[in-house]
Order: sequence, then structure tokens, then C-alpha cells
Amino acid sequence: MIWSLLACTGAAPDEPAQPEPEVVPAGAQPDIVLVVIDTLRADHLSTYGHDRATSPNIDAMASEGLQFDRAYAHSGWTLSSFASLFTGLLPHQHRVGRAPADASKFGRLSQETVTLAETLSEAGYATAAIMNNTFLAPEFGLNQGFGEDYSWQGASNDSHRSAAESVAMGLSWLERQQQPAFLVVHMMEPHLDYAPPADVRGTFAPTELPFPVPLSDGALKHGLASGQIVLPRDIPLITGLYDEEILTADRAVGVLREGLAARGKPTVTVLTADHGEEFWDHGGFEHGHTLYGELTRIPLIVTGPEIPAGAVRTVVGHRDLFRSLVAVGSARLPENVGGADLLTIASEGAWAGERTVLSENVLYGPAQVSSINDAHRLVLNQLSGAGEVWQVAGDASERVRLQGAPQSERAQEMLPIMEGIRDGDLAPIEVNDTRIPDPQTFQMLATLGYIEEPPEKEVTEETP
Ligand SMILES: [Zn+2]
Repeated sequence: MIWSLLACTGAAPDEPAQPEPEVVPAGAQPDIVLVVIDTLRADHLSTYGHDRATSPNIDAMASEGLQFDRAYAHSGWTLSSFASLFTGLLPHQHRVGRAPADASKFGRLSQETVTLAETLSEAGYATAAIMNNTFLAPEFGLNQGFGEDYSWQGASNDSHRSAAESVAMGLSWLERQQQPAFLVVHMMEPHLDYAPPADVRGTFAPTELPFPVPLSDGALKHGLASGQIVLPRDIPLITGLYDEEILTADRAVGVLREGLAARGKPTVTVLTADHGEEFWDHGGFEHGHTLYGELTRIPLIVTGPEIPAGAVRTVVGHRDLFRSLVAVGSARLPENVGGADLLTIASEGAWAGERTVLSENVLYGPAQVSSINDAHRLVLNQLSGAGEVWQVAGDASERVRLQGAPQSERAQEMLPIMEGIRDGDLAPIEVNDTRIPDPQTFQMLATLGYIEEPPEKEVTEETP
């Protein structure tokens, strides 16, 4: 089924207009701690229904606050997703992503764009971030607003700083702050390589495996090609290693929670991820190549003073989180930030069936944009104009593709809404015209396999 990009006109409203965040009295600014676990798909946490006990500490956190069951990142890979999380803007607005026509070109955040750290800083917060992914290098500009306290260690996948080290650094920094504090702690554990430490190894996958551990991207791809890894028999073994990495990150979350409780200061704590991981749900592996739920549905848990407990089914995105944290910090909402306050959504069930969240920009393959609402996902190939509509099941998985008239009808409903959010322009995103200036970072990305373009995968083909 093909829908021409040019044939569709008429913008639909994004969503009902939101009032400005309420200003709370000075002195009521709680500390804000944002935990971002790289590559953590929501459905691999016990609290989101996983059948392995991967997350006792995150589950405990969820039981104390709001768990958003249908939360989505605005992209399926680190750089463009983090840029949305830190600016409240969609990838076509912040223009930080991979250039569709040049795999070696990545946009850098424009200095004019206001980040969460900048607006909270203006409102009186001290800010710090502890970051561990190559795509979070200061060269990409996501350090804006963190001053000297942007600690980045972009090691290779298997030699990153541990979640436990990052938590210790974060708690130590918090202890030194006299004013309200905004801290970001990024954990790299669930990202490839899968190299669970000895104290968790064997929990979810046998210690003897038919492939080497640490399991690297290269080993997996080459193993698959040479037939050393047989699917689907090996999928539970591979996800077992991934789940052990989650358990390691969860333990660090436990230490963080204990540390925050010991401080005893009012703190809003958020746990989320930049994107998920595919285990052949739609025929592929890893992340960056699609916008389906296994890559864009992320955990989102918010706890803190005056935040109620409960699960929220309304579809939300990271820009809603941005808006909420601006409100929590009594900060100024930057221009052009859409979305709605998560607490308003939770308390009023606002537009539960009407919300649409957009995800855009891929690291590999043809340019794509996707929207999801309560019941369906629309994926558009921005080069060919071909579209797909997938049904969202009760467990939020997206495994059944509509065909024929039902697909066409749903697409005709969803396309104008997608266009409305994109201001009528569904072309591939343009990235800020900056190449990575630091040869070391460029080399690191090349070593990790991000620069080399893998074979193009046509998203409009029949997908299993
Ligand atoms: Zn990532």
C-alpha cells in the first residue's frame, strides 16, 4: 500500500493546548534525578510484565510512583533520542541525528536550542550529567547547560564506566550541592556487548553457552552469518545475557535509591531509557534500524513528593517528560516544546484515547517517521512514501500488520495527525550541518561500527 507524501494535505491539531506550567513558590524546588538506562526496552522489566525477575529495585520504585505503561522515545537510537529528551523537541526540530544521505554525518545540537539543563540552571539549579555512550560525547552538544559537570567517558561498549561507578559519582556530586540539584545518571549496561559481571552471570542464561561471552555485535552478526548461532533456539540465551545486564543496572538503581533516601531531601526521581533493543521481533537485531515498539517503547517511572502511585495507560513521550521536569523545577518552558505535563495526564487521564507520539530518524537504512496512538502504529518510509499500519496488542507489542482496507482506513486517519505534528512536512529530517570535529570520537564511532553503512534493509518488505 502506497500513500504519496504529496497527496496528503490538511494538518490536524497536535493535541489540546496546554496551559503554562504552574509556578510554585520559591524554595519549593525539589532535587531532580534522571536515570537513563541505555538500550532498555520496557517489556524486559518485571514491573512491565517480563517473566524474568530482572528489576526488583526498579519494581520497588514503580510501586511508589507513577509507571507509564505506554511511554515512547522519539527515536530508536542514542543520539537523536537523547537530544529529544534533553530539548523537548522532536528530531526534525532539534536536527540532531544521522543525515539520511550521509552515514558519516551527524547533526550537532544548535547553541540556540534551550536544553533542560539550561532552563533548570536559569531557575537556580546546579546541574550535572554522568554519561557513558560515544554518541553522548560533548562534540554533539548535549553537554549544553551542564558546564564543567558533564562527565563523559565514551569507552568501547565492553569497557564503559559501570552503573555502580556512575551512581557513586552522582551521589558524591549531590552531597556537594547547596542549591537545588539536577543530576542525570546514564547507565550503559544493557547495550552491547553483553558482558554480565560474575555476580549475576548464570542468573538467566546458563554459564555454558554455544557462543562466546562477552557477546559483541560483530560476533553475533558474523556468528549468524556462519550459522554458529541458530535461531530461534538461541534467542532466550541471548536475551538471558541482556537480562543479566539489566539486573546489574537495577542493582545500581537500588544503591542510588538508598543513597537518595539517606539524604532525605525532597527529590523527584525519574527512570527511563533512550531506546530499546530488538531480538528479532520484526526480523532484526539490536537498535537504530526501525521505530517499532521494541526500540521505541521505553520504561518511564516518576517518583517524588506529592506524586501519586499508580499505572498510567495513556500514550506519552519524552517531550511530555521534558515539560513535566520544567514544571517540577519551576523553570521557564522553552519555545516550541509540545506535549503535556505527565502529572496532568496522570491525574485527569487527559485525552487518553487521542494522543499520538511521533518517533523519527534511523541510524541505518531508509529514512522513516512513525506515529503511535492507543491502538495502532503507522510507519512511513520517507523515501518511497510506502506505509505500514500495525495493531498494538494489549501487551503493547506490535506484531500484527493490518492489510487491505483496514490498513488503508487506519492510515488515512493517522496520516493527517502525523502531518499536523510535522507542520505538514513529512520529508526526512535535515540535520544541523556539522560533521564530528573530533577525530578521536569519529574513530571511536567507526570502531564501534556506527560509521560503516550496513546493507540497506527495505522496511516496506513483508515483515515477519
Ligand atoms: Zn542508546
